[in-house]
This record gives sequence, C-alpha cells and structure tokens, in this order.
Amino acid sequence: MRHSNSIVSACHSEIAKVLKPGMTTIYINGLVETFIRDNGGVPSFLNYKVGDQRFPFSACISVNDAVVHGFPNNRELKEGDIVSIDIGVFKNGFHGDSAYTFAIGDPGEEVMQLLKVTKESLYKGIEKAVFGCRVGDISWAIQEHTERKHKYGVVRDLVGHGVGRNLHEDPQVPNFGKRGNGPKLNPGITLAIEPMINMGTKDVYYEKDGWTVRTRDGKPSAHYEHSVCVQKGKADILSSFKDIETAEKANANLRSDYY
Ligand code: MG
Ligand code: MG
Repeated sequence: MRHSNSIVSACHSEIAKVLKPGMTTIYINGLVETFIRDNGGVPSFLNYKVGDQRFPFSACISVNDAVVHGFPNNRELKEGDIVSIDIGVFKNGFHGDSAYTFAIGDPGEEVMQLLKVTKESLYKGIEKAVFGCRVGDISWAIQEHTERKHKYGVVRDLVGHGVGRNLHEDPQVPNFGKRGNGPKLNPGITLAIEPMINMGTKDVYYEKDGWTVRTRDGKPSAHYEHSVCVQKGKADILSSFKDIETAEKANANLRSDYY
C-alpha cells in the first residue's frame, strides 16, 4: 500500500508542476492515466462499479462547486478556480488513494481559507487514527475544526473508508460524528481519511451523469485525502503531500501561500 500510495503522490506532484489556466480537466485525466500505467499500476477508479454504473475515467476531477467524483471534460481551468483531484492506484494487489485541492491563480481569501481549514482538518483526523481511539474520534476531530470552529458544511452523503485489497472497505470513516463512538482502531488497520468540506451548506446533489456531486448552493467545496495505517502513538501516513506542496509552491500559476 505504501508503494501504491507513492505512485499516487508522485502523480499528484507531476500534475502540480504543470497545472495552469487554460488546461482542460480531460487533459489532466490523460496525464494521470499515463503516469499510473508508466509506473506499472492500474487506475483504481477506471471502471469502478457502483450498482450498474461504471466510472469511465482514471481520475475524479472536481472544479469549484463540484465536491467529488467529477467527470473530467473539455472545460478549461481558469484563474480563480479550485480543482480537487482524486487519484487511486492499484498495484501488487493493493490500492492507494489520495486527493488534493489546488488553487488556479487566486480564488480569493475566503476560498484559500476553506482550503487551509480543510487540509488542517485532515491532519486533525489523522491525529486520532491511533490505537486506543475509535473511528468516531477521527470523525469528531474533523467536524469540530470545520463545522463547529469555522462554520463550514461537512458533507454527510459521502465518507472516508477502509482501503487495502479493495478500494472501499469497512469501516466507513465519516467526517462527522461523536467521540468514543464507532469501531475500535487497532494497529495495522488502513483507512482513507478524506474531509469533503463546503464553504456553505452541507447539502449536495448528484448531476445527471450519475457521479458528479455538487453543493446545493453552488458555493465551492474542498477535498484532501490521505491513506493512513493505524499505529500505536502516531498514524503512519502512506500517501504524502510533501512533493506536491513543493511543486505547488514552485508553480506560479497556483496559489499556495495558505499554509
Ligand atoms: Mg480518493
Ligand atoms: Mg477515498
């Protein structure tokens, strides 16, 4: 899983180097597909099946009010957009899963604050992904920081998850909940923790394509995700934002002064 996640994170870093206004999200999807296959992996999301529907792309790319599961298309990114890119890689029998939201040009202070707080909440959740805690402790920490402290909307319809041989495994890891509730966290459990945080209402709807999730009020939404392994004392984070953040800072087309 560490290897699969290293491909996911390296793929995000490559995208962070080249993102710019005028780029289409279908082009980004192609970059993701090529990078994953060049590294001997298979895109986890391509043909991912829910009911009788299959996700037809290699990456979920969600712009502005799109929360998650966005379909890449011919829309060009423009100054002031935020774009959430969710990437999964399957290799050697295991999945890696991580997401990152980028600011194209300058979307303004209010949106940058949303990105900052959402990323912070991910790490606050990860702090609770340790032996002795329960899933609800992760959920509570994320909701506390985003909804109660910053008055953002925490999406209820979609949640984090166990990850490993399958992309989505038990337990569910909601971004809202009560401390001390839910399954116990034992060393070795691997989770994808992924706050999906809306600037306005928590309510979302599905687009006609059956996948793209958007905010009800049209306000922007941010999404950051790490795959982690529960340990004693401190979680082992299997994906990494380190190289993504370095590339983001070096790319003059991205705003990244919020952390
Ligand atoms: Mg993901
Ligand atoms: Mg996930």
